Amino acid sequence: MLQDNIATVQARINEALARRTEPKITGNTVTILAVTKNHPASVITDTLACGLTEIGENRVQEAMHKQAVLPAGGHWHLIGHLQTNKAKHAVEHFDMIESVDSLKILDHLEKAAVELGKMQDVLLQINEAGEEQKSGFAPEDFRAAIPELKNYPHIRVRGVMVIAQATDHVEETRPVFAAGYKDFVYLKEALKSDAVDTLSMGMTHDYWIAVEEGANEVRVGSALFGARDYSLKF
Ligand SMILES: *Cc1c(COP(=O)(O)O)cnc(C)c1O
Repeated sequence: MLQDNIATVQARINEALARRTEPKITGNTVTILAVTKNHPASVITDTLACGLTEIGENRVQEAMHKQAVLPAGGHWHLIGHLQTNKAKHAVEHFDMIESVDSLKILDHLEKAAVELGKMQDVLLQINEAGEEQKSGFAPEDFRAAIPELKNYPHIRVRGVMVIAQATDHVEETRPVFAAGYKDFVYLKEALKSDAVDTLSMGMTHDYWIAVEEGANEVRVGSALFGARDYSLKF
């Protein structure tokens, strides 16, 4: 059943790629990040067995509990807001941190990466929808932060992450994703770096729009695994 759900998501991604009206610098290959939050650890085993390698979790603690009971495997992405006091655990347990939303958190991640002798991959989260309660750099703060990134030698900025607003009219997300693509292009040109290669946009309710607008990573949970179980405690 998971295999069928993956095939369905992949087919919709392929259709969205075919609908693109212009080529995107993010390329024509879209990675499915399997968002396993609020599902038991066994779901990750099933996901890896189906051939997906990228695992998304939104809480450091939950990911640590799952990693403790699973054999090593998969690439782990943190997609939820990160507090400074969890920075070290995040660097220890995640291959990619997608939710970097301030220079302050970068200070803490840099320090942790030095201590752990690691080069930490990150994405910069941008609040393109301008929602007050959402985290992410405001678009103007994102652009102002780019010249500061050279101060973090143990942080490798791989791209941009965007969450669209929740809406009953999915077309309303299109300008948000288009803005994310523009900011990704701006970042890549500003840093002149081949390492900038990931534009993470789109979830179960809007991932095909995100792909049309240039996403090359989509973060999908419910479409693969069904409803989350919020009674699970980690
Ligand atoms: C939970 C979550 C997702 C996946 O949500 P679905 O609607 O289940 O696909 C994607 N991105 C982030 C940041 C999330 O927190």
